[in-house]
Amino acid sequence: MKHLSKLRKKGFDEIVHQFHDEVFGSIDCTECGLCCKNMGPIFRNTDIKHICSAVGLDPKKFFEENLVQDPDGVGFMLKELPCPFQNEDNTCSIYDVRTLSCSNFPHTKSTGIQKKLVGLALDSLYCPAAFLICEKIIESY
Ligand code: SF4
Ligand code: SF4
Repeated sequence: MKHLSKLRKKGFDEIVHQFHDEVFGSIDCTECGLCCKNMGPIFRNTDIKHICSAVGLDPKKFFEENLVQDPDGVGFMLKELPCPFQNEDNTCSIYDVRTLSCSNFPHTKSTGIQKKLVGLALDSLYCPAAFLICEKIIESY
Protein backbone atom coordinates (compact mmCIF):
# COMPACT_ATOMS: atom_id res chain seq x y z
CA MET A 1 0.00 0.00 0.00
CA LYS A 2 2.96 2.30 0.62
CA HIS A 3 4.07 1.62 -2.96
CA LEU A 4 0.57 2.10 -4.39
CA SER A 5 0.13 5.35 -2.49
CA LYS A 6 2.81 6.84 -4.74
CA LEU A 7 1.25 5.64 -8.02
CA ARG A 8 -1.28 7.97 -9.59
CA LYS A 9 -4.54 6.29 -10.68
CA LYS A 10 -7.19 8.33 -12.48
CA GLY A 11 -10.52 8.54 -10.67
CA PHE A 12 -9.06 6.70 -7.68
CA ASP A 13 -11.43 8.13 -5.06
CA GLU A 14 -14.49 7.13 -7.12
CA ILE A 15 -13.08 3.61 -7.64
CA VAL A 16 -12.57 3.19 -3.88
CA HIS A 17 -16.00 4.65 -3.10
CA GLN A 18 -17.47 1.88 -5.25
CA PHE A 19 -15.37 -0.75 -3.42
CA HIS A 20 -16.62 0.73 -0.14
CA ASP A 21 -20.27 0.36 -1.21
CA GLU A 22 -19.70 -3.21 -2.42
CA VAL A 23 -17.93 -4.30 0.77
CA PHE A 24 -20.22 -2.56 3.27
CA GLY A 25 -23.21 -3.82 1.30
CA SER A 26 -22.25 -7.35 2.31
CA ILE A 27 -20.90 -6.78 5.84
CA ASP A 28 -22.94 -6.37 9.01
CA CYS A 29 -20.86 -4.26 11.40
CA THR A 30 -22.97 -5.42 14.37
CA GLU A 31 -21.53 -8.90 13.83
CA CYS A 32 -18.03 -7.45 14.14
CA GLY A 33 -17.53 -4.39 16.35
CA LEU A 34 -13.75 -4.80 16.25
CA CYS A 35 -13.01 -1.11 15.59
CA CYS A 36 -14.89 -0.04 18.73
CA LYS A 37 -13.21 -2.81 20.74
CA ASN A 38 -9.64 -2.36 19.54
CA MET A 39 -9.11 1.05 18.01
CA GLY A 40 -11.48 3.67 19.36
CA PRO A 41 -12.14 7.06 17.80
CA ILE A 42 -10.50 10.47 17.91
CA PHE A 43 -12.63 12.89 19.92
CA ARG A 44 -12.45 16.53 18.83
CA ASN A 45 -13.72 19.25 21.17
CA THR A 46 -16.93 19.49 19.13
CA ASP A 47 -17.47 15.71 19.44
CA ILE A 48 -17.09 15.94 23.23
CA LYS A 49 -19.58 18.82 23.41
CA HIS A 50 -22.17 17.05 21.21
CA ILE A 51 -21.88 13.69 22.97
CA CYS A 52 -22.00 15.13 26.50
CA SER A 53 -24.92 17.36 25.68
CA ALA A 54 -26.84 14.45 24.08
CA VAL A 55 -26.35 11.99 26.95
CA GLY A 56 -26.25 14.45 29.86
CA LEU A 57 -22.61 14.02 30.84
CA ASP A 58 -20.41 16.75 32.31
CA PRO A 59 -17.75 17.39 29.60
CA LYS A 60 -14.98 18.04 32.15
CA LYS A 61 -15.76 14.86 34.09
CA PHE A 62 -16.10 12.83 30.87
CA PHE A 63 -12.77 14.17 29.67
CA GLU A 64 -10.93 13.46 32.94
CA GLU A 65 -12.35 9.96 33.31
CA ASN A 66 -12.06 8.76 29.73
CA LEU A 67 -9.72 10.72 27.49
CA VAL A 68 -6.04 11.48 26.93
CA GLN A 69 -4.30 13.59 24.29
CA ASP A 70 -3.93 11.88 20.94
CA PRO A 71 -0.17 11.58 20.19
CA ASP A 72 -0.72 13.12 16.73
CA GLY A 73 -2.31 16.18 18.34
CA VAL A 74 -5.51 15.84 16.28
CA GLY A 75 -7.78 15.50 19.32
CA PHE A 76 -8.21 13.08 22.20
CA MET A 77 -8.35 9.32 22.46
CA LEU A 78 -9.85 6.88 24.92
CA LYS A 79 -7.74 5.87 27.93
CA GLU A 80 -9.17 2.37 27.75
CA LEU A 81 -10.84 0.13 25.21
CA PRO A 82 -13.39 -1.08 24.33
CA CYS A 83 -15.21 2.19 23.78
CA PRO A 84 -17.59 2.79 26.72
CA PHE A 85 -20.39 3.60 24.26
CA GLN A 86 -20.32 0.17 22.61
CA ASN A 87 -23.33 -1.95 23.55
CA GLU A 88 -23.09 -5.70 24.10
CA ASP A 89 -24.66 -6.35 20.69
CA ASN A 90 -21.96 -4.18 19.06
CA THR A 91 -24.35 -1.32 18.38
CA CYS A 92 -23.38 2.20 19.40
CA SER A 93 -25.29 3.79 22.28
CA ILE A 94 -24.55 7.29 20.90
CA TYR A 95 -24.92 6.42 17.20
CA ASP A 96 -26.58 9.71 16.19
CA VAL A 97 -23.88 11.83 17.84
CA ARG A 98 -20.89 9.50 17.42
CA THR A 99 -17.60 11.18 16.54
CA LEU A 100 -16.73 12.19 13.02
CA SER A 101 -13.90 9.65 13.08
CA CYS A 102 -16.44 6.92 13.94
CA SER A 103 -18.86 7.86 11.17
CA ASN A 104 -16.05 8.19 8.61
CA PHE A 105 -14.19 4.99 9.54
CA PRO A 106 -12.41 3.43 7.60
CA HIS A 107 -12.31 6.66 5.56
CA THR A 108 -12.96 4.95 2.24
CA LYS A 109 -15.70 7.43 1.31
CA SER A 110 -13.38 10.39 1.75
CA THR A 111 -11.25 12.22 -0.81
CA GLY A 112 -7.51 12.03 -1.41
CA ILE A 113 -7.62 8.32 -0.51
CA GLN A 114 -4.43 7.60 -2.46
CA LYS A 115 -2.46 9.46 0.21
CA LYS A 116 -4.22 7.54 2.99
CA LEU A 117 -3.47 3.99 1.80
CA VAL A 118 -0.93 3.23 4.52
CA GLY A 119 -3.51 4.24 7.14
CA LEU A 120 -6.08 2.02 5.42
CA ALA A 121 -3.63 -0.89 5.52
CA LEU A 122 -3.17 -0.30 9.27
CA ASP A 123 -6.97 -0.15 9.75
CA SER A 124 -7.22 -3.48 7.91
CA LEU A 125 -5.32 -5.14 10.77
CA TYR A 126 -8.59 -4.95 12.75
CA CYS A 127 -11.28 -4.08 10.24
CA PRO A 128 -12.38 -6.87 7.86
CA ALA A 129 -14.11 -4.32 5.62
CA ALA A 130 -10.90 -2.28 5.29
CA PHE A 131 -9.06 -5.54 4.53
CA LEU A 132 -11.48 -6.44 1.72
CA ILE A 133 -11.28 -2.91 0.30
CA CYS A 134 -7.44 -3.15 0.38
CA GLU A 135 -7.67 -6.42 -1.55
CA LYS A 136 -9.91 -4.83 -4.17
CA ILE A 137 -7.53 -1.88 -4.50
CA ILE A 138 -4.55 -4.18 -4.99
CA GLU A 139 -6.49 -6.24 -7.56
CA SER A 140 -7.42 -3.06 -9.43
CA TYR A 141 -3.74 -2.27 -10.00
S1 SF4 B 1 -18.62 6.02 19.83
FE1 SF4 B 1 -19.86 4.32 19.05
S2 SF4 B 1 -19.13 3.95 16.95
FE2 SF4 B 1 -17.58 5.19 18.01
S3 SF4 B 1 -16.08 3.73 18.86
FE3 SF4 B 1 -17.62 4.13 20.45
S4 SF4 B 1 -19.18 2.52 20.21
FE4 SF4 B 1 -17.96 2.59 18.31
S1 SF4 C 1 -14.03 -3.13 12.25
FE1 SF4 C 1 -14.83 -2.59 10.20
S2 SF4 C 1 -16.28 -4.25 9.69
FE2 SF4 C 1 -15.90 -4.31 11.91
S3 SF4 C 1 -17.52 -3.05 12.83
FE3 SF4 C 1 -15.77 -1.70 12.49
S4 SF4 C 1 -16.13 -0.79 10.46
FE4 SF4 C 1 -17.48 -2.58 10.62
